[in-house]
Amino acid sequence: MSGVTGTLDYDVAVIGAGSAGFAAARTTAGAGMRVAVIDGAEELGGLCILRGCMPSKTLLYAAELMHACREAERWGIRSKGLECDFARVMARKDALIKEFADYRRRQLASGTFELIRAQARFSDPHTLALSSGRRLTAKHIVISTGSVVAPSPVASLEAVGYLTSDDALELKTLPKSVAVLGGGPVALELAQFLARFGVNVTVVQRSPHVLKGFDADAAEEVEKALRREGLTLYTDTRILEARKAGGLKTVQFRQGDETRSVTAEEILFALGRRPNTAGLGLEAAGVKVENHRILTNDRMQTSAPHIYAAGDCAGPHEIVHVAIQQGETAGHNITHPFAPRRTDDRLLTEVVFTDPQLGRVGLTEKEAAARGLVCLTAKYPFNDHGKSIIMGAQEGFVKLLADPATGEILGGCCVGPHGGELIHEIVAAMAKRMTVRELAAMPHYHPTLAEIWTYPAEELAALITHLA
Ligand SMILES: Cc1cc2nc3c(=O)[nH]c(=O)nc-3n(C[C@H](O)[C@H](O)[C@H](O)COP(=O)(O)OP(=O)(O)OC[C@H]3O[C@@H](n4cnc5c(N)ncnc54)[C@H](O)[C@@H]3O)c2cc1C
Repeated sequence: MSGVTGTLDYDVAVIGAGSAGFAAARTTAGAGMRVAVIDGAEELGGLCILRGCMPSKTLLYAAELMHACREAERWGIRSKGLECDFARVMARKDALIKEFADYRRRQLASGTFELIRAQARFSDPHTLALSSGRRLTAKHIVISTGSVVAPSPVASLEAVGYLTSDDALELKTLPKSVAVLGGGPVALELAQFLARFGVNVTVVQRSPHVLKGFDADAAEEVEKALRREGLTLYTDTRILEARKAGGLKTVQFRQGDETRSVTAEEILFALGRRPNTAGLGLEAAGVKVENHRILTNDRMQTSAPHIYAAGDCAGPHEIVHVAIQQGETAGHNITHPFAPRRTDDRLLTEVVFTDPQLGRVGLTEKEAAARGLVCLTAKYPFNDHGKSIIMGAQEGFVKLLADPATGEILGGCCVGPHGGELIHEIVAAMAKRMTVRELAAMPHYHPTLAEIWTYPAEELAALITHLA
């Protein structure tokens, strides 16, 4: 025990009972350690369940159904008199979230570990001062305090006021028009949800294309689809200022040499989140941060080796399964110090739940180029594929990246129908380090969406044979 004397209250104290914290607590308590989980939220459940993945995907699915009904005429199905009862859409979402949150609260209260409802901050490397006045000591500490909405880059936006994703998921009525600031997954998912429920939506994005973590060709498919549905998109912009007049809000921004503006009833501020680490007293514990993010090694250890961090507060990805893996890795390494586990990004998977959906795993072409890696790439479009033609879902493509020497699959991208599900075939293939030849030889039922992967796999396999 590094520099600790006397008896400590717990083997492990976990700060934050979201996805990462729960995973760390379950892992360490499961190994027989004395564990305390401290969470200061009024409502327990964490971001994913309460204000993230689950409510947003419930609403997006409703919007997808609405859209499908509107489009049904294409299949010879009339949907006259289609109506949306927005209050019921929101009520269904609330009921589901309550169910998910109640389940998580029962897990937290199951007695496997002690749950303490308080805010925690470090007073020294092994001691936490709780907002209840109690002091608590632990041999190991896991920080899993999540993220908060990043402050706005323009002071006038604060004065004008805006909705955050939290507010958008709780709307009682729909505004007529919304200016969405940001072009990441959360911004675009909410933009499409609002547009499909009749809101006039304009998206203003900083980077040259939306979804900057993806290759431009994939992001462009989503941009095209959103424009076709009536959304207005501005990319490569810089926000200058915001003002309010006559009940409407205006955002002025620079795009190239032009100054433009968008006026709407509401602004949705979706320019990102930042690690929730202010106020934790990390300096008292010797835990280093960079831009609010807790720095960790690949074992999830911070600069103070007995303190671990997991989830959005450690980043760099705000993805819930990554938060869980990090929490489990921290837990494993606390309980198995001589057989450590490491995290890595080889199988980094990201899904965007727009329609068309986007999924990616492993390398993108952009990343391969940035790292100077030579890869072979092949793409196949959904507009030349039986099942997607049957479904009338002909936007997008699948793409594979492979090692030119061995044929090992190094990355995959799918933008199209059920892209978020389809990408998992490549996640599994990459987990087992399969080659394009092995993927092409794997049975694929006909006609399925999944069989589309065989085309780029066959193309790359042939190319590699030819090169050999
Ligand atoms: C709108 C939206 C949609 C999203 N959709 C997806 C998606 O589809 N898929 C996906 O993978 N990810 C999605 N995400 C991201 C995902 O929700 C997060 O990456 C994930 O929930 C982070 O989990 P966490 O455990 O790090 O943090 P959290 O779940 O936020 O948990 C942090 C906990 O720490 C507690 N806490 C904070 N400070 C203290 C303190 N000092 N003392 C005590 N307790 C404290 C908080 O009360 C909170 O309960 C979405 C996010 C948003 C905003």
